[in-house]
Amino acid sequence: MTKFEALGLEKPLLDAVADMGFETPSEVQEKAIPILLESETDLVALAQTGTGKTAAFGFPLIQKLDSNSRTTQGLILSPTRELCLQITNEMQAYSKYIKGLNTVAIYGGASITEQARQIKRGAQIVVATPGRMKDMIGRGLVDITKIDYCILDEADEMLNMGFYEDIKDILSNTPKGKSTWLFSATMPKEVSKIAKKFMDNPVEITVGAKNAGTSTVDHEFYVVGGRDRYPALKRLADANPDIFSVVFCRTKRDTQRVAEKLIEDGYNAGALHGDLSQNQRDLVMNSFRKKQIQMLVATDVAARGIDVDDITHVINYQLPDEIEIYTHRSGRTGRAGKSGISMVIVTRSEMRKIKSIEKIIQQNFTQKTIPTGIEICETQLYHLANRIKETKVNKDVENYLPAINEVLEGIDREELIKKIVSVEFTRFSNYYNKTKDLNTGDSRESGRSRTTDNSRGGSDSSNNTGSVRYFINVGEKDGYDWMTLKDFLRDTLSLGQDDVYKVDAKESFSFFNTEAEHTDQILKFFTDFKLNGRFINVEISENPGGGGGGGYRGKKGKGNRRDKFNDGGGNSSDRSGRGKSRERKGSKAKSGNSGKRRSKQSRSDFF
Ligand code: AMP
Repeated sequence: MTKFEALGLEKPLLDAVADMGFETPSEVQEKAIPILLESETDLVALAQTGTGKTAAFGFPLIQKLDSNSRTTQGLILSPTRELCLQITNEMQAYSKYIKGLNTVAIYGGASITEQARQIKRGAQIVVATPGRMKDMIGRGLVDITKIDYCILDEADEMLNMGFYEDIKDILSNTPKGKSTWLFSATMPKEVSKIAKKFMDNPVEITVGAKNAGTSTVDHEFYVVGGRDRYPALKRLADANPDIFSVVFCRTKRDTQRVAEKLIEDGYNAGALHGDLSQNQRDLVMNSFRKKQIQMLVATDVAARGIDVDDITHVINYQLPDEIEIYTHRSGRTGRAGKSGISMVIVTRSEMRKIKSIEKIIQQNFTQKTIPTGIEICETQLYHLANRIKETKVNKDVENYLPAINEVLEGIDREELIKKIVSVEFTRFSNYYNKTKDLNTGDSRESGRSRTTDNSRGGSDSSNNTGSVRYFINVGEKDGYDWMTLKDFLRDTLSLGQDDVYKVDAKESFSFFNTEAEHTDQILKFFTDFKLNGRFINVEISENPGGGGGGGYRGKKGKGNRRDKFNDGGGNSSDRSGRGKSRERKGSKAKSGNSGKRRSKQSRSDFF
């Protein structure tokens, strides 16, 4: 008897399991499958992406359905289109030996008529995103009044994305007697609320922190100055030449900006966020799957459905505002038994967040230093040597050998090797010779701030002269506009009437300026400051020009591809020019300064 047979699975499923190459059930499968097969019960399972949870609910669901009836009997709700398609594919693979069992995906951004047609042909299982599901119920295109099972997958994500009302409406169209199975990586209050309200005495299972999905992830953090995030990101990429990563940013704008900068600097990068059309997102994802993109820069929401197993690194370019989201980010790597690294680039003022995250993930972070130029040169050199060693000789090269031999005549083997590797090494060493150490030098234990490296010259925002722009993680949704935020900052920091200026309140965050002489005091003050129980985070903005919201999209790298080793630290005239134009746009749009309240930015800024 195989281990899957012992869980109670029958032949058609066992055959599919064998085809998929699954040998041992994962922890969540071992815990959930027998319970769900043996009883009609509600279930709450705390399990993260990558733990095999789709099969944990998918196998029992498939086994329990009546494939001879065309009625829709199982509904799976999932937060994103990508995840919806991924679940559908898995369900189809698991049920391939069960004749007549159909799983249909319904999700936004595709033809509703086609989806309705597929449902009409008979779908025992419907996998849906909440928005499209509600739409189709409203139009009478799908009937879920007779379902026996409802699965809420990644419930915390669905609630994060604001789907509570939709879920409530959808569930109100389902029969009372059904079983509800809820899967979630975390259990915030909102998820418990759903469990209490819509479930009947659910069995609870938890897949421990040390499950296959997470135990293989190492967590590292790097402390840098606020304006050194981008050069730090480049170094992390250069120090890991085979990197295949997702880089997380907080907003769509930052996502686009970082991806564009990487592309311009010669990296294989792409952006994934909600301002892109579905078609554009599909193209980016296809390139990423094929590894034509090595660094996928993404927002949290857009990255949610990514099902790529061999991501080597997750890079938190900025930490999420809600630290619980970190779990989802780091869960993108270390999947399917592989190991992975989740890196966090933080500023001194954000270091306390690391402790809070450690509590959530029940794992410790290792503090690492951003590699120095010479370390990167060394890594690249050995990488090149290995690449040369592993490169298969191209037959066509033979034709050119006589001519090449002629050119290289008189150079012995040793000299030739030196010359070959110097081609690459010189590029790196020329670039990194001129750069500074990016580490702020703070030790985790002391948490004390030391003076930052002064070698960065006049553009360094921590110099004691000039104006400094800050990012703060409160905005209009916290009840502030530019005037009230200015008052709050002046009062809290005991600053004078005109000390805080250029206050620009966005929906969830804001920007403001002070003279540099106040910077140390401000950063220190907000290291550990809570408002209504929430940590208020202030960082030096990476967009010192101002605006911080001028809708910059930038030009594409095409025709303007620059060398990877251009300085990312703000010295490029190209970028400083753009900064100014953004400032102009920003100040034009800033009716806040003329006393009028700007219209609210859409929540979708984070998608
Ligand atoms: P999930 O957590 O459902 O997103 O699953 C993560 C990945 O693990 C998917 O690619 C599954 O096909 C795979 N998987 C699920 N269960 C097993 C298993 N028992 N053995 C090996 N791989 C599995």
